[in-house]
Amino acid sequence: MTESIRRVALVAHDNKKVDLIDWVGRNRDLLAHCELLTTGTTGKLVSQRTGLDVERLQSGPLGGDQQIGARIAEGKVDLLIFFWDPLEPMSHDPDIKALLRIATLWNIPIACNESSADFMVSSPCFKQYTRRKPDFSIYQSRTVAGTDA
Ligand code: PGA
Repeated sequence: MTESIRRVALVAHDNKKVDLIDWVGRNRDLLAHCELLTTGTTGKLVSQRTGLDVERLQSGPLGGDQQIGARIAEGKVDLLIFFWDPLEPMSHDPDIKALLRIATLWNIPIACNESSADFMVSSPCFKQYTRRKPDFSIYQSRTVAGTDA
């Protein structure tokens, strides 16, 4: 089924939060038609600075990245805008890697910087796109060595 991008997850590390807030502000009209899902501090700042409604999960280091990953696995996210900081090691680096992994696995478009995010929202695909949902049935029905399953 062809669908528009409706459910957008937003995450930014501290050194990238201003960039993300500016980007959201520039794309406010478009994003006002989307459901916005955010990590805790990112969402607080985005809603304060832009007036957009967001669903705020936990702060990233407290599990927010994993919560977004879970929503992706449940098929509830159409686009991930994740301005991560390539210059700083983070306490939750494993969670960041896991979020990028799960978004890649489920064929979710990911923008990790401003120009990629610009490309995505200006693409015709933003309005109309059929994302191929990966078929994991072979993996799910595999046999596991040493078990009867
Ligand atoms: P925050 O989390 O929005 O709560 O700062 C982002 C992150 O560090 O993953």
